[in-house]
Amino acid sequence: MTYDVAVIGGGMVGTAIAYGCAARGARTALVDQGDLSLRAARANAGLIYSQGKGEGMPAYAAWTRHSISLWPTFAEAMASVSGRDIGFRQRGVLAFCLGEEELETRRALLHRMHNQIGGPASPVHLVDRRELEAMLPDVRLGERVAGATYSPEDCDVNALPLLRALYTGFLAAGGVHLPERTVGRITTDGGGFAIVSDRDTVHADKVVVACGLGIPTLAPMVGLHAPVHPVRGQMIVTERLAPMLPIPGSGVRQIREGVVQIGTTMEEGESVPATSVADLARMASRAAAVIPALSAARIVRGWAGIRPMTPDGFPIYQQSPSHPGAYVAVCHSGVTLCAAHAGPLAEAILAGRLPDNVADLHPDRFDVHTA
Ligand SMILES: Cc1cc2nc3c(=O)[nH]c(=O)nc-3n(C[C@H](O)[C@H](O)[C@H](O)COP(=O)(O)OP(=O)(O)OC[C@H]3O[C@@H](n4cnc5c(N)ncnc54)[C@H](O)[C@@H]3O)c2cc1C
Repeated sequence: MTYDVAVIGGGMVGTAIAYGCAARGARTALVDQGDLSLRAARANAGLIYSQGKGEGMPAYAAWTRHSISLWPTFAEAMASVSGRDIGFRQRGVLAFCLGEEELETRRALLHRMHNQIGGPASPVHLVDRRELEAMLPDVRLGERVAGATYSPEDCDVNALPLLRALYTGFLAAGGVHLPERTVGRITTDGGGFAIVSDRDTVHADKVVVACGLGIPTLAPMVGLHAPVHPVRGQMIVTERLAPMLPIPGSGVRQIREGVVQIGTTMEEGESVPATSVADLARMASRAAAVIPALSAARIVRGWAGIRPMTPDGFPIYQQSPSHPGAYVAVCHSGVTLCAAHAGPLAEAILAGRLPDNVADLHPDRFDVHTA
């Protein structure tokens, strides 16, 4: 059988695109290594977050906000297809600042982004300590908290139920899941593609290379260019606690079930998903400086995940100039962009042309001659 689309990579990006293609009636295969592979999709913090995204790349800021605008409807579809709560809430996100210097740095970032875009980069407000206390009347903030930036449109979700909902939706729409396969080769096959794994060969008219850290090996086989490197992130979760933080923060977030998530780190070039005492201690100490009550909380788990990251941190989307029908998609905020990947990006792949609003996210920007 020849599929309309084969998506390589069952992480947050590939599964969202595969779901979007199958939900639009395309015969879609999702080829993936499996649950025990290195997969950022099962390690992340679940923030749907616009703050600070797109400095130097207004198209990324706009694409992020577009995805956030699609999220409430998308979350309803995910909850309905999976028959369970995915923990989605649109209650804004805070980035807490410890000390005046951090607040000033955030102020300067907002200012730069405002100037680059010629208007508000996103509806992000700077709030001082007094305003923050008014927003969080029942929270005892640490003495060093000078204020925060607040983005009221931002949201959060529970990452694992989201991934499960995407799989469930994909299968319900007739998609074919092919796990436990490592793709080693993509070749042309008549007018389409042969996707060769260690188990079998899948034939498809279109192929989407969306396998995170596996992209640099596979993409060049079909004329795609997507430099991706690993960036480690560590996380901590506490036991379930009584409600203490009604608005999530960028490094400290209480999910609906009461657990508080703490983290994360950004460790360039680290490809081993290991935690370190020094990093976990730093993250925990910062979280306790924001909310001192956390000092008494019991930690139940810590983990690390490896993000696929591009050289400038912005996503890459491309249709191959030499092999039309072959696409690559990669980003470092796959949860935030999930609604855009399942929606307009999947629709555009089926139509054979990437959306105009991601034109600036083409990898030609890394080519000195083209740039
Ligand atoms: C600690 C941490 C916190 C994060 N917090 C957030 C957050 O709050 N908000 C947010 O938006 N994002 C967050 N992220 C980032 C988000 O998780 C990633 O952007 C997203 O998971 C990337 O999706 P992906 O599908 O590209 O890669 P992955 O999720 O890593 O999936 C890649 C998949 O490709 C498969 N694969 C690889 N090579 C092959 C091959 N040759 N053949 C077949 N399959 C292959 C793997 O098995 C895997 O399933 C965080 C990440 C980390 C690590």
